[in-house]
Amino acid sequence: TARVLQINHLYKQFAVGKGSVLTAVNDVTFHVNKGETFGLVGESGCGKTTIGRTIMGLYDKTSGEVLYDGRDVHELDNKEQFQFYRTMQMIFQDPYASLNPRSTVKEIIAEPMEVHGMYTSKKKQLDRVIELLEEVGLNRGHAERYPHEFSGGQRQRIGIARALALDPDFIIADEPISALDVSVQAQVVNLLKKLQAEKGLTFLFIAHDLSMVKQISDRIGVMYLGNMVELTSSDSLYENPLHPYTQALLSAIPIPDPDIEDSRERIILDGELPSPVNPPSGCVFRTRCPFAMDICAEQKPAWKEVETDHYVACHLHDKAKA
Ligand code: SF4
Repeated sequence: TARVLQINHLYKQFAVGKGSVLTAVNDVTFHVNKGETFGLVGESGCGKTTIGRTIMGLYDKTSGEVLYDGRDVHELDNKEQFQFYRTMQMIFQDPYASLNPRSTVKEIIAEPMEVHGMYTSKKKQLDRVIELLEEVGLNRGHAERYPHEFSGGQRQRIGIARALALDPDFIIADEPISALDVSVQAQVVNLLKKLQAEKGLTFLFIAHDLSMVKQISDRIGVMYLGNMVELTSSDSLYENPLHPYTQALLSAIPIPDPDIEDSRERIILDGELPSPVNPPSGCVFRTRCPFAMDICAEQKPAWKEVETDHYVACHLHDKAKA
């Protein structure tokens, strides 16, 4: 499979006053295959949103590479960048905040088309807007209305239609369902899956909730305090999680069927998430890890492929695959 996005040793630091530095993304490496959904998961503050924004060029990187189709997106000139952001679009957590309240739905969806001069004919542009509304489960009657007239789920559909306006290949969805009612979440996920199948889209799906990510993702990367701690296929992550943090996240997902007895052992994490300005030495997870050993405070565990396409950073798995 073709790798469309390759992130190599990405670092992103922010200055946070008095000479302190917050390392939001600490040496993260992963790739996304064309046509797949890659889930990026972790608690808030783990760096997943910073990665999404750095890929989009909303943040400069501190070091490392963000390669899209083999080219570093941070090295493109203005013209190339303009074209690149046709190919890659973003869907946000809070569709209300990202939609201009004074614009009609028609204007919101048409705006990127106008910026890119896609249509010379207003009629063709409007036809395309209506087509996009229909693709996301809305209709012509919604075109002249304003964002506040819609429910949260409908607003996210408008956000998705806007993201599709430029016919992108790659979509970064940053917590696209977290702000929605549970009953609406599945509908939006189903819509994203449908659009992916129809258009061959590639998704980077950012979320804190592993249960929804499992349903939509082909592969998943788990983040903790700026570090990627485990990466593998969705199935293998659920059947054979290797990192203690992944195990804890998975044990917190309730079994949906009340008739099935839940005999799993809950792993309750002690302590608070440490500050990313002053992370623990060695393994960043050690202050909350039930298996922490002496070496965990002394040495940062290396990122290793322990089984084919299954990567983990943990001293319990120091023996890399032969
Ligand atoms: Fe726990 Fe040590 Fe593994 Fe970190 S390296 S997850 S502290 S066992």
